[in-house]
Amino acid sequence: MNDLIGRVFSFEKSTFPASGELFAKLSSQGQNPKALMISCADSRVVPEQILQAQPGDLFVCRNAGNIVPPYSTMNGGVSSTVEYAVMALGVRDIIVCGHSDCGAMKALSNPEGLDKMPNVAAWLRHGTAAEHIVSACSGHLHGKDRARAIALENVIAQLSHLRTHPSVAAAIARGEMALHGWFVDIGEGQVLGLDGTTNKFVPLREDQPLPVALPATRRIDNETYLAEAAE
Ligand SMILES: [Zn+2]
Repeated sequence: MNDLIGRVFSFEKSTFPASGELFAKLSSQGQNPKALMISCADSRVVPEQILQAQPGDLFVCRNAGNIVPPYSTMNGGVSSTVEYAVMALGVRDIIVCGHSDCGAMKALSNPEGLDKMPNVAAWLRHGTAAEHIVSACSGHLHGKDRARAIALENVIAQLSHLRTHPSVAAAIARGEMALHGWFVDIGEGQVLGLDGTTNKFVPLREDQPLPVALPATRRIDNETYLAEAAE
C-alpha cells in the first residue's frame, strides 16, 4: 500500500483517541472556526501547520494559485466557501496566502507550458493582472524573482477580488471583517504579511503589530447616508 495512504490507520488508532475530548465537543457543538484561509493547493504549504491550528480552528479553501474569482464571474467552490464562511460561520478574518516556488505563479510568468492544461490556463486567468503589473512595473525581473513578484502581486489581486463578494463587502462596511495577505517562503520558513498602509509585504514579527491588508474598521453607520443627503 502507498505509505501515505496507510497512515490513515494511525489516525484512527492514535490521533483521534488522543484528541477524544476535542472531537466529542466539535461533534456535539459544531464548528466555530476563527478564520478562513485561502491558500494554494501546493503540498508544501499547510495552513493548519502554519497557524498551529487544531481541528475546528480554521476554515480552509485551497486551489492552484490561491485564486479568488471575482464575484459573478463564476459560481464555484471558492465563492461558495467564502459565502458560507462569512454568512453561516461568522468568520471575521480572511487570509489569502501565496507562497514561494509556486507552480501556478511560474505558469502565469511563463504560460507556454499550459498548452495541454486548458483548465489550469483558464483558472489562472484570474491572476493575469498580477503578471501584467509585474511586467509593466518590474520588467527587469526574471526567473525566480519574477515568479516571486507575481506571487506577491497575486495575493493583492485576489484580495481585491475577495472584496467584490457581497458577503465580504457588507462585513467590511460593518467593520466586522479584516483581510490579510500572506506569503510563505518555504525555504526560509518565514511568513510575510501585506501592510495595507504601506502596500508592502513585511515579515510577521511576534513583538510587532501584525501587518494587516485591510483592518476591521466600520465605514457605514446610521448617519452615513443621511449626512450625505443633507449636504
Ligand atoms: Zn502554489
